[in-house]
Amino acid sequence: MDPNGMKPLPLPSQTRDASFATLGGDNMMHNKHTTHRNDCQLLLLNSVQSSFDRTTVENQTNIPQHNQRGPRRKQPALPPSKLSPMAARAHMNILKKIGKQPLVEKQAEGSVFVPEISNVPSDYKPGKGAERLMQYMLRQRNRPEDNNIQFWRNLVAEFFAPGATKRWCISLYKNVEQIDTIFKVEWQCNMCNQKPCYGFEMSEELLPRLHKRKYDTGLVDEHLQIDTPNEYKGACGQIFLHYPKAAEESQYEQTRTVRNGQLRIVFSPDLKIRSWEFCAEDHDEYVHRNFIVPQVSQLGAAMENYRLSTQESSSATPEERQKHTDLLISSANQMVEALGVPFISQIGVDKRYFRSLQ
Ligand SMILES: [Zn+2]
Repeated sequence: MDPNGMKPLPLPSQTRDASFATLGGDNMMHNKHTTHRNDCQLLLLNSVQSSFDRTTVENQTNIPQHNQRGPRRKQPALPPSKLSPMAARAHMNILKKIGKQPLVEKQAEGSVFVPEISNVPSDYKPGKGAERLMQYMLRQRNRPEDNNIQFWRNLVAEFFAPGATKRWCISLYKNVEQIDTIFKVEWQCNMCNQKPCYGFEMSEELLPRLHKRKYDTGLVDEHLQIDTPNEYKGACGQIFLHYPKAAEESQYEQTRTVRNGQLRIVFSPDLKIRSWEFCAEDHDEYVHRNFIVPQVSQLGAAMENYRLSTQESSSATPEERQKHTDLLISSANQMVEALGVPFISQIGVDKRYFRSLQ
């Protein structure tokens, strides 16, 4: 039990599996749960990245850049000198394999590339993961009008591997501890590295119902705004996709919310999502102009009537002046209510969907 009394969640299958590596950050070493696995072990070796960075950039899929905002942190790369002895040995072996001399303290700038060190046969081509993600988003947007559960079951079966998890970390939110009914979960976020973190974990079995619920509770459309990804293939054939800048945009009838953060997806060799992680930093809320235009017009008219009724030349009776004063106050209150957008939760989703996540 954690200090908040929540039952710790079991380690997700993704972290129990090998080939897990974090892109950048202090935990870019292999996860401790993977150290006993030799078959699929991946090591993030910064000093060899320089020989691959160019290849990575050239091979990346060109995804349109919609969002120039993103994480405000710069994640440091781990120099080879700070690798564990085992990692350092593996590091040297790889350097020998590719005929490179070790580079000392080469600091990463941008993407980190994990060299392919296995002989696992694959028809992988760079960009396959990003392409698959686009297919998933497109299919999701083409949902039927009746939002039936079977559509979501089919979608999840097609794009998610059995036992897959979807995580949403909000540990980087300001004043996260003051968010109502949010609690800590016993996993480590692979982007902000917090453990335990504040957030949610959804298993693949729950996804169809949650997707349906999301649209049943007022969501009109959802978009993913993404920057250029870092993509690479792991030794066991998994495809790792990391977007250092990503934003999830939810459109509701009266508002639009944009959650800013990082996105990290791991695909199985057959291109099914095994893990989907979004680490959100904050969100913006936008109120549709049409939604507040009536309140603005009403407030403007009430102000003008009040002004005229209080002029010295006005022939308004005290009762009429009181009536205009009351109308002005009432209009101002309606404006406050409209801008308050009370149905959006503190983390930028509909409150009813937020309760489902909990
Ligand atoms: Zn996080």
